[in-house]
Amino acid sequence: MYGFVFGGAGGAADANEYIELVKMFLRPSEFRVLRAGEDTGGAYIVDVKRPAAPAASKDKNAVKRLLYERLSALTGKLPEWGILTGIRPVKLFDALAGPNGADASRACMRFREEYYVSDAKTELTARVHALQRATFANAATDENTVSVYIGIPFCPTRCQYCSFTSNQAPYARISGYLSALGREMDFVAAGMARKRFRVESIYIGGGTPTALNEEDLDGLLAHTRRCFDGDTVKEFTVEAGRPDTISAGKLRVMRRRGVDRVSINPQSMNDDTLVRIGRNHTAESVRAAFRLAREAGVPVINADLIAGLPGEDAGSFARSLTAVLELEPENITIHALAMKRAARLKEQDAEYNYETAAVAAEMTRYAAESLEKASYAPYYLYRQKQTAGNLENTGYTRDGKPGLYNVRIMDERQTVIALGAGASTKLYIPRENRLERVFNVSNYEIYEERLDEMLERKQRLLFD
Ligand code: SF4
Repeated sequence: MYGFVFGGAGGAADANEYIELVKMFLRPSEFRVLRAGEDTGGAYIVDVKRPAAPAASKDKNAVKRLLYERLSALTGKLPEWGILTGIRPVKLFDALAGPNGADASRACMRFREEYYVSDAKTELTARVHALQRATFANAATDENTVSVYIGIPFCPTRCQYCSFTSNQAPYARISGYLSALGREMDFVAAGMARKRFRVESIYIGGGTPTALNEEDLDGLLAHTRRCFDGDTVKEFTVEAGRPDTISAGKLRVMRRRGVDRVSINPQSMNDDTLVRIGRNHTAESVRAAFRLAREAGVPVINADLIAGLPGEDAGSFARSLTAVLELEPENITIHALAMKRAARLKEQDAEYNYETAAVAAEMTRYAAESLEKASYAPYYLYRQKQTAGNLENTGYTRDGKPGLYNVRIMDERQTVIALGAGASTKLYIPRENRLERVFNVSNYEIYEERLDEMLERKQRLLFD
C-alpha cells in the first residue's frame, strides 16, 4: 500500500489532478491519500511537495512531472499520456501550437518534453489537430453559429458498461417525455430566432433515438427541422446505436427529414460478447442494419467498437474490426472501455479497467494500424476517466467525411444548445475564450415535472 501526502502541493483542485495521475500507475486499492499528520497505517509514504525553485514552485505541471518520475521509478510503468490528466489533448495541443494553432512542431516538442507524452500519442494528437485545422478551422469562433443536441434517454435494454442517461421505460411513458421535449424545442427555437443564432450541426443522441417507433421518430425529426432548419445546417446526425431498433421505415423517415449521418454501433461483432454485455442484437443484425441504411441512401455511417470488453482478447477484437471494415463505414470510432460509477460492470469488478489495460492497449494499437492500411485517418480524439489502460477514444474517417459535431463538442469553441433529460448546454464566450454551462436534470420524469425551471435557466444563459 502506498500513501500519498499532497499537503505541500497546492489546493484541492490540484490534489485531484495529482490523484488522477496516480491512478494511471496504481489501482485505487493500492494507495491512500493521507492528510498531513494522519496515521500512515504502515503505508509506504510518497510525499509530494512543490519544487524548491521559485519559477517551478508556481507550476502545477512541475509537481506532476516529479510525481510521474517517482511513480515510474516505483512501478516501472511509463503511461503514454504522460502527465496529461485532461480529457481534451487536441485542445491543449492547439494552445501549445501558438497563435492560430499554427506551430505544430513546437506543440509536439512541448508534449514530449513538458508533458512526457509518448511519441505515438504525440503523433496521434498532431494528426488529429492537422486534420481538424484543414477541415473545420473556419467558423469555430463565430459567436452566432451553434450546434444543437437533442437527447432521447431510452434504450431497449441496458448495456453492462453503460454510464449514460438510459431508461428502459414502458413505451407509453415515452410520449409524455416527447411532449415536454417538444415544448423545450419550441422555446429554444424562438429564443434562437430572436438572437439570430445559426445552426451548423444537429445531433440526436441518447440513449437510443431509434428506440422511438416510426411515427414518433418522424414527429420528432419533423419538429426538429421546423425548429432548427436553415441552409446553414451542414450535418444532421441520428444515433441509431442499437441495430435491433433500426428498420427500413425508420431509415426512410430519417432520410426524408434530411438526416445525413447515422451511427450504427456494433461495439463488438462477436455474438458471445454481445450477449455478455447485455445487448439485444447479433453481428448479423448489424450487417442487416447497414444494408438497410445503404439502401435508404444514408451518406455517412459511423460504427463504434469498444476495446477491452469482458471476455475479449486481441484476436476477438481483430475479428470484430475486420467484420466492421467489410461494411465500409465512413466513420469508425474506437472507444476504450470506460468504467464509470453507473456501470453495472463496475459493481461486479471495480478494477476491471486495470485488469484489461494491456489487452486494450494492444487492441487500440492494432486498430490504428489496420485503419491506416484501410485508408482511415484519425479526426477526433478525447479521453475519459477510468478507461481501460487510460486509453483514449479516437474517431477515424475516410473519404473526407469527418463528423463535424464530434469535433465541435471536443474543441469547445462553439456554443452547443442541448435539449432533453441529461443534456448539458455550453455557451461559448469568444472574447474570454471560455464556456458557461447549464444542465438539464438527467431523470426523464423529473425533467418533465421541472421543465419550466430548465427553460428559465436557458433563458438566462442564452437569450436574455
Ligand atoms: S445503447 Fe448506449 S445509452 Fe443505451 S444502454 Fe447501451 S451504452 Fe447505454
